[in-house]
Amino acid sequence: MARESRRRSWAEPFKIKVVEPVRMTTREDRRRALDEAGWNTFLLRSREVYIDLLTDSGTSAMSDRQWAGMMIGDEAYAGSENFYHLEQTIQEVYGYPLVVPTHQGRGAEHIISKVLIQPGDVVPGNMYFTTTRLHQELAGGTFADVIIDEAHDPSSEHPFKGDVDLNKVEQLIAKHGADRIPYLSLGVTVNMAGGQPVSLANIKELHGLCSEHGIPIYLDKTRVAENAYFIRDREEGYADKSIADIVHEICSYTEGAWMSGKKDALVNIGGYLALRDQKVFEEASNMVVVYEGLHTYGGLAGRDMEAMAIGIRESVEYDHISARVRQVIYLGEKIASEGVPIVKPVGGHAVFLDARAFLPHVDQDDYPAQRLAAEIYLESGVRTMERGNVSSGRNPQTGENFRPKLELVRITIPRRVYTQSHMDVVAETIWETWDRRSEIKGLDMVFEPTYLRFFQARFRPQE
Ligand SMILES: *Cc1c(COP(=O)(O)O)cnc(C)c1O
Repeated sequence: MARESRRRSWAEPFKIKVVEPVRMTTREDRRRALDEAGWNTFLLRSREVYIDLLTDSGTSAMSDRQWAGMMIGDEAYAGSENFYHLEQTIQEVYGYPLVVPTHQGRGAEHIISKVLIQPGDVVPGNMYFTTTRLHQELAGGTFADVIIDEAHDPSSEHPFKGDVDLNKVEQLIAKHGADRIPYLSLGVTVNMAGGQPVSLANIKELHGLCSEHGIPIYLDKTRVAENAYFIRDREEGYADKSIADIVHEICSYTEGAWMSGKKDALVNIGGYLALRDQKVFEEASNMVVVYEGLHTYGGLAGRDMEAMAIGIRESVEYDHISARVRQVIYLGEKIASEGVPIVKPVGGHAVFLDARAFLPHVDQDDYPAQRLAAEIYLESGVRTMERGNVSSGRNPQTGENFRPKLELVRITIPRRVYTQSHMDVVAETIWETWDRRSEIKGLDMVFEPTYLRFFQARFRPQE
């Protein structure tokens, strides 16, 4: 073979210093575990799982530098050194001057929703996120989806499926008036659409429109580095920019942001609000004392804030973020190569199986994605999760299931935890499940919690 045509191998951009053995189980073990867990992968015990792709939230492997940072935790109740390091890092990397730490993302969502939303307000967003929408609703707001239509179509290959449809925003303003819209909630990337990015061109246009009407944009920047990678890779004019510069530019169009540090920022726990408006900051600082902890720790230990500050810097390094996203794409392309229906293009943190196309014979009210996630676990101990009718919940007015257009199983890749060989095993598991798809039936829900039911609902398999 000619030298030029040889495949160039790729390898993870890190060495492994500490290992955690994983445990294999038998099919019998797994069937028993599923029955005990009510066929909900959230209710399995970690020791029953072989490769855990439930979520990339708080499951990252920290670097040696982060672990070193854990040893210099300043556990003072007030004014911890680590808070100031975190604050300075957020100021430099994202450009927001004011920081309120919280225990994780939803702590920040709770506070910002209560500060900004009045009962009866409408909050536009580029597709809902489970905890984000719930906090907006609990504060008295109504969520309105303004994402482009392509986002709801798993087969559309649009490169920026997270983009906002500006016409939908204009219609909302015309219908409700700008004074009933306290802010626009912009997610980058859009988790529920399949980890799909938003383009900078769209953010700039949106900023123009919102500024005209005096509506601030607040950013859910939980996965902003992944979004920046896609912009660099796909958007005209950004190929020579650094990830850090792109991240900074995205934030520059927004009035504030909330973040779950458990994703991009490579920590096991942590989050914060980052703001520009002094008055919003004062109210948020006041509320954080009630719900999270003093405004210089917000429910976190000093060492956690230190690890997050270091993780934020690592998250915008090109080698890290490209390896992270490319690993997800590698898995997605491999799964799809045998004809398995997935959401395209592959997103930044997960591969999403299209459960409607995988199990077309199962009605959506029999929860095909929930059943499929359980069957994948049964096949080989790989844990995934549902993002469909169960996650979406019920319409509070009618009590009916939402039956969202996207009925998906999410195969989520933790950062720096698994190797390419683990990805190969996962793809083979999906193929084996695909081969026996015609025998797979639906589920009956036998226990349903009131809020975020997907975490704790229990099911019985239809035989
Ligand atoms: C995880 C996540 C949140 C919530 O953060 P937690 O740390 O889990 O509370 C909010 N928005 C997005 C996009 C997320 O992925």
